[in-house]
Amino acid sequence: MTTVPVKTRFAPSPSGLLHLGNLRTALFNALLAHSAGGCFLLRIEDTDASRSEERFVDAMQEDLRWLGLNWQEGPGAEAHSGPYRQSLRDAMYQSLFQKLLGEGHAYHCFCTDEELKRARERQRAAGKPPRYPGTCAGIPPEQAEARAQAGEPATLRFRVPANQQIVFGDLVRGEQRFASNDLGDFVIRRADGSAAFLFCNAVDDSAMQVSEVLRGEDHLTNTPRQCLVLDAIGLPRPRWGHLPMILGEDGAPLSKRNGSRAVRELRDSGILPAALLNYLARLGHADSDNGLKELSGLAATFHLDQIGRAPARYDEQQLLHWQELALRALPPEQLQHWMQTAAGDLIPAKRLAGFSELLAPNVRLFADVQRWARACFSAEIAHDEAAADVFREAGSPFFAAAAGAADQDWAALTAVVQQQTGARGKGLFLPLRLALTGERHGPELAPLHALMGPAAARARFAQAAGLAQSDS
Ligand code: GLU
Repeated sequence: MTTVPVKTRFAPSPSGLLHLGNLRTALFNALLAHSAGGCFLLRIEDTDASRSEERFVDAMQEDLRWLGLNWQEGPGAEAHSGPYRQSLRDAMYQSLFQKLLGEGHAYHCFCTDEELKRARERQRAAGKPPRYPGTCAGIPPEQAEARAQAGEPATLRFRVPANQQIVFGDLVRGEQRFASNDLGDFVIRRADGSAAFLFCNAVDDSAMQVSEVLRGEDHLTNTPRQCLVLDAIGLPRPRWGHLPMILGEDGAPLSKRNGSRAVRELRDSGILPAALLNYLARLGHADSDNGLKELSGLAATFHLDQIGRAPARYDEQQLLHWQELALRALPPEQLQHWMQTAAGDLIPAKRLAGFSELLAPNVRLFADVQRWARACFSAEIAHDEAAADVFREAGSPFFAAAAGAADQDWAALTAVVQQQTGARGKGLFLPLRLALTGERHGPELAPLHALMGPAAARARFAQAAGLAQSDS
């Protein structure tokens, strides 16, 4: 028995940025390929010129590379089954259209949008599902050809055979059956001559020898039509697996409105590739191993039978959990680089290593780094009224004592303040912490004080002393 090498693909339409939903699809396909030692292919589905933009073609590839989701076939990795942009494959589609026309599997349709709309309304009013009524199916082919040649606007429709069962084994949902009588003849070439999504998507999967296709279940109803197209042409079908949707925290399909974000937005907020990949590999897929893993490790435990059948729910806290693990796993230089990207302008270069090591447990996103960099290094702190209350209670002699001892080490400084004011426990440490950082919680104070240096600490104690004397 010969086994077909596993080839999966990600086939985005460049009409927007890569976001959590389509990234998960890309990742599952990449993991499936890697788990079988196969090939992961990238194909750009840009036949709809009105919706495709070059900047998205570039941005998607850049985002995939940033994540380390490299493709073994695709743009920049040409192989025999290319080109990998559908806009460059039109000649093949056109010759297949001629073949289907010649064999009677397709026909010219001259119905206008207005006529199609009226037909749908009539069907709805009669309680029937809207479907192409077959108006042009019976036009003799020579007549139709002559009208099309004369320039009458026409789409090309696939002639769906009557009374057939279309059956395929879905990799996620098991056997699926559709009745051809429910489908209606569908458009495979648009009036402007371009190939419709449904057609070129199916043809390319087959022509590129894609063996498995994981995609969103919103495509499930396309699949029986794609089976018919491939069968009519005589091309083998890939095996499809339709992934349950991702829902937002409000239970509605994940979208911009309820939490989905573009990959580059997440990147700009500080999320690390490892965090995103480890989180998404578990979104709707049960991984037996809870540790942070590289792609190869994620692939090793990726199994189709571990994909859930129920919708997955996006949970930002989970993503942040993986972000914490990913940060913890970074070697010191990379962590410093991440901190510097976040707040390089706020952190003195010679303090970067110390800051990075000390603050690592307190930060998850760039915004956290910026907040702590300001807390540690900005000239003044914007204290709130609650902090001023704490300073008043401690009193200005407390801060005068602290300022006077600011160039000693932390143990000596606290001993001086305690001795001079009698403050202890929380009454000692909370005012000191608030004065130094503006925060009630945070890293250990001794190394923090050392990191800031005596001049900055003195200035902050002086600022707190001023507030301690202010009126409430
Ligand atoms: N270009 C389609 C999309 O972005 C691909 C669908 C599929 O994966 O088959 O939705």
